[in-house]
Amino acid sequence: MSKYDYDLFTIGAGSGGTRASRMAANYGARVAVAEEYRVGGTCVIRGCVPKKLFVYASQFSEAFEDAAGFGWQVPKPTFSWGALVANKDKEIARLNGLYIKGLKSAGADIIQDRAVLTDAHTVHLVNQNRDVTAETILIATGAWPAMPEIPGIEHAITSNEAFHLDALPRRIAVVGGGYIAVEFAGIFNGLGVETALLYRGPEILRGFDDDIRAMLHAEIAKKGVDVRTECNVTAIEKKPDGTLALTLGKDGAMEVDAIMYATGRAPNTQNLGLDAAGIKTGPKGEVVVDAYSRTNVDNIYAVGDVTDRVNLTPVAIREGIAFAETVFNHNPRAVDHSLIPTAVFSQPEIGTVGLTEAQARERGDGIDIYKTAFRPMIATLSGRDEKMLMKLIVDAKTDKVLGAHMLGHGAGELAQTVGIALQMGATKAQFDATIAIHPTAAEELVTLREKYTPPAKAAE
Ligand code: FAD
Repeated sequence: MSKYDYDLFTIGAGSGGTRASRMAANYGARVAVAEEYRVGGTCVIRGCVPKKLFVYASQFSEAFEDAAGFGWQVPKPTFSWGALVANKDKEIARLNGLYIKGLKSAGADIIQDRAVLTDAHTVHLVNQNRDVTAETILIATGAWPAMPEIPGIEHAITSNEAFHLDALPRRIAVVGGGYIAVEFAGIFNGLGVETALLYRGPEILRGFDDDIRAMLHAEIAKKGVDVRTECNVTAIEKKPDGTLALTLGKDGAMEVDAIMYATGRAPNTQNLGLDAAGIKTGPKGEVVVDAYSRTNVDNIYAVGDVTDRVNLTPVAIREGIAFAETVFNHNPRAVDHSLIPTAVFSQPEIGTVGLTEAQARERGDGIDIYKTAFRPMIATLSGRDEKMLMKLIVDAKTDKVLGAHMLGHGAGELAQTVGIALQMGATKAQFDATIAIHPTAAEELVTLREKYTPPAKAAE
């Protein structure tokens, strides 16, 4: 019999913590999971799921408009934010229930409390004011929105609050250029809010392929989002009527009714007792782990956003699975973070897997680029001014497809299947040998024959 209360104590019942705990319990471990907010974590409660539901909601405005070209006469539709929030909350409650059920039926104890480490084998439950010991501890506390310290920042919201606004603002500024910022800009814009996207860098979506970034910028601007790059918010002032006056560097000023920050997320490691347990952290406060998600303290592991590797739900889940396999099933497994298909639910949507053109060029080996920008078929009758983009990056020597980048309807779904091909090491010749599905946008991926040659540089 172990001298500890539990074999595994998991701090945080989000994507990574829940999966790891369930699996460990299924392998026979005595498991407890502490959660300070709601079981399910960021993804289920205030991340991927409610966000995607809001994206769907916001797409209807264009769908109603586009229907006219196909013969439909739609009376002027009305929208109820209250109904959307209530329905979303109902769905989140259902998922929260399923997550709780999953943990319980695996035999894990759920402890509704904040847990902090007091040494390498002990956690303190803050509200219950008691200690629990465990042989192995898993830190899966996720991340939290990071906001700059500027005057008036207390008037700003983050994605956390955006899911529970009492009413939709008439005008909003979304600050940031990452995927959460562009997704929320699309949501608000689609729901009829006058939306500005303010980003301090030269182009939105840093880290994505440059063609995709430029095209998304152009497409969301066409939809009416006021996209401003190299734009810094330096102060927020709340006027007596509730209006927020923003001071912007070179852009002067702007008035809005709400401002949402999506300027990155910081690992949730503050006041977690990491020092007491002797756990090393990195420059952003992230828990430093090895390939098996083990920290510098032998019996303590960490998975998911708190380790700041690749901050996505399926990655946290994979890390949770690998941890449970390694520690509780004698099957050491490390997660390969190198080829992760990703979607951005911007409007238009992005799907991407593998290297960007810039990353591929950096390797120094030759590459061939195949790309096409075209009008999607639905736009012929809808009359909407929109473009899709498909781009393949191919190793010139081996013919292996190194990266695929797509923008437009269904691009996120596409990235999942293209990801399988890249995972298998598919070559461009194998893409070409695949028979097209007509009429689809995806057929472009198997019919791209002409190498892209960059335009010759004008003589100096
Ligand atoms: P989390 O899911 O954040 O779970 C951590 C849990 O720990 C939380 O429930 C928290 O309350 C709890 N906790 C923290 N500290 C303590 C403590 N001391 N004691 C007890 N409990 C504690 N990813 C995608 O793959 N696709 C998407 O479309 C996507 N969209 C997103 C949209 C938004 C707006 C956001 C914010 C994130 C999105 N993500 C998306 C990212 C995704 O949500 C995270 O990568 C994922 O949730 C990470 O899982 P995790 O287990 O590391 O942490």
